Amino acid sequence: MRYRAPRGTRDILPEESWKWEKVQRAFEDTARRFGYRDIRLPVFEQTELFARGIGDATDIVRKEMYTFADRKGRSLTLRPEGTAGTVRAYIEHNMGESARVTKLRYFCPMFRYERPQAGRYRQFWQWGLEAIGSMSPSVDAEIIHFCVSLFTNLGIEGSVAKLNSAGCKSCTPAYNEALREHLAPRLDEFCPDCSERYERNPRRMFDCKNESCLALLADAPSILDSLCDECRQHFESVLEYLDRMSVPYEVDKGLARGLDYYTRTIFEVHYPGLGAQSALCGGGRYDDLVEELGGKPTPAVGVSAGVERLMLAYESESGGTGQEPGPEIYIVSMGERAEREAAGLAAGLRADRSVELDHQGRSMKAQMREAGRLGARVAIIVGEDELERGAVSVKDMETGDQVEVELDRLNEAVEEKLAK
Ligand SMILES: [Zn+2]
Ligand SMILES: [Zn+2]
Repeated sequence: MRYRAPRGTRDILPEESWKWEKVQRAFEDTARRFGYRDIRLPVFEQTELFARGIGDATDIVRKEMYTFADRKGRSLTLRPEGTAGTVRAYIEHNMGESARVTKLRYFCPMFRYERPQAGRYRQFWQWGLEAIGSMSPSVDAEIIHFCVSLFTNLGIEGSVAKLNSAGCKSCTPAYNEALREHLAPRLDEFCPDCSERYERNPRRMFDCKNESCLALLADAPSILDSLCDECRQHFESVLEYLDRMSVPYEVDKGLARGLDYYTRTIFEVHYPGLGAQSALCGGGRYDDLVEELGGKPTPAVGVSAGVERLMLAYESESGGTGQEPGPEIYIVSMGERAEREAAGLAAGLRADRSVELDHQGRSMKAQMREAGRLGARVAIIVGEDELERGAVSVKDMETGDQVEVELDRLNEAVEEKLAK
């Protein structure tokens, strides 16, 4: 039996994962600067939470959830996204009592049963932010600014936010009617999925992947013309904040997000360098969800995104030229006594430097080659003869300069070389 990773999953091996570490660190640093604190959610939740939180009509809930019964017959689902679990935790732990606005971030794997295809996995990673507790359009703008800042920090320049409104409970019914009225005469030209969406939630038709459906929607009325006064003011105010923050944006009347819970602001941030599918993240306001999931009425706004897409953009920007960071120091040794000395030196140096050494008794030459291959900056050469004199050699791997150093001056000599 040869075991393989399950269909739709993959291993992220060290040759690749060091880049993931960089991206995750950039995410965490940027999020900390914006005041978003880490939350670690359970991998699975009660199925009902997602059905209710994400919406029964969405593709995620209808076709893509990893749902199973545990040994007591309880229906559980592997988390397909992060918002429902975050809101559940917010309510469960009364997080709203200790802070006016609760700002949380996550970076973790999600699970959706999709047909595996290029770049799509059943276990995939998402990063996300949720700001729960404020009605203010400044929070919407702050989250959008975060996205652009994160991308800039990763060298992804030129991203643009696209914004639309999803309206609210009081203004969407009129819009849905206007939309149905406009689309009715040509309804039979839409795909079967769209006909279904027409009945349940016609705005969802903007999510269709078929070019022909999207063409039919091109002159559909915009929700921006049907917004109530509060929603219109909110939308305009978000744009003013973005102007003030110098965040590049466009208003996109066709933008719709594939989840049912959005109200008011919805947005995506696009990076044109990725071609046709250029969205790097998407999010919006969900002012009704906390109440929907059993909490007090509490406004909220959030964003989430696939880490895999972010990696694509990051790699295309860095030109794939980066190199996995190697050890700072490689210790070469020959002979039993020298090997023990090398292990002792490594133990001391590892207090604040990265150190690698040979564990296979290879020749000095092979060890030097390994030091070069790993990209070590300094090699320490421990030879039996030098040890007799209480010394080792220190070699600058860049210049090839090599000097003999007394053991009690070794730290100094190494730090001197590494400081350059
Ligand atoms: Zn409204
Ligand atoms: Zn369609």
